Amino acid sequence: MENAKIPYMFKHTSHPRPLEGKHLQQIQHVQQGQLELIVGPMFSGKSEELIRRVTRALIAKQNVVVFKPALDDRYHASAVASHNGRSVAAHAVQDSHHIRQLLEGESPLFAAPDHSSNRLNNQIPHFDVIAIDEIQFFDPRVVELALQWVCLGARVIVAGLDLDFRGEPFSMVPELLARAEHVDKLSAICMICGAPATRTQRLIGGNPARFDDPIVMVGASESYEARCRMHHEILGTADVKDNARGDGISAGRI
Ligand code: ADP
Repeated sequence: MENAKIPYMFKHTSHPRPLEGKHLQQIQHVQQGQLELIVGPMFSGKSEELIRRVTRALIAKQNVVVFKPALDDRYHASAVASHNGRSVAAHAVQDSHHIRQLLEGESPLFAAPDHSSNRLNNQIPHFDVIAIDEIQFFDPRVVELALQWVCLGARVIVAGLDLDFRGEPFSMVPELLARAEHVDKLSAICMICGAPATRTQRLIGGNPARFDDPIVMVGASESYEARCRMHHEILGTADVKDNARGDGISAGRI
């Protein structure tokens, strides 16, 4: 009966036979790395989703490490927190080189004796899951770093903004999107009309920011809200690319 399931051609040609029994189990035991991306505007639930995936991995007793960009130039223990109050412990780091140093055990952080059982090839600590939040604030070399760990068999989960406040692709995020095995593009709720929001509106003193404002503002008294394409506004450009309104007036034109 078992053989009846195998197509005739597998028995009498040089085609590989279907995998059975223990061979299939052996293959399943090989851990495949993968890159997962969670993107969308602010308030779309990216951190929430990253925290959910990390929490499940921790419940499964996997070796998990979480990173986020530091707001200052020091390393410190921190947390990834979502706008609805959930959080998970994270390491606040300066750049991709800093992540690499920590992952490769050059830093005392992972050189402690209780991590010695997590060593791969007696050199590099092994992690099942590496999660990075706010990926858009890292340098482009974070792409290479993420892919290297995927090749080592890690599940690399990355969350961040796909578009900047102007609605333009954010730094290296498009490259990560192209290279990822799995992508989730989330939307928030537009604060003007309640439609799905795919854009992040920057407001300065309650007014839309200008196109030529710096992408990352430090210490400014700006605020952000989620907007749909139609209600996303940018001042200071006559060349608004993709937020033209139905009435023919560009949302960002002044
Ligand atoms: P992100 O990481 O994408 O900025 P978070 O995971 O931190 O998002 O927060 C998502 C939470 O933000 C939602 O579950 C909801 O409670 C809250 N929230 C606030 N404003 C909005 C909005 N305009 N649309 C959707 N959710 C919002």
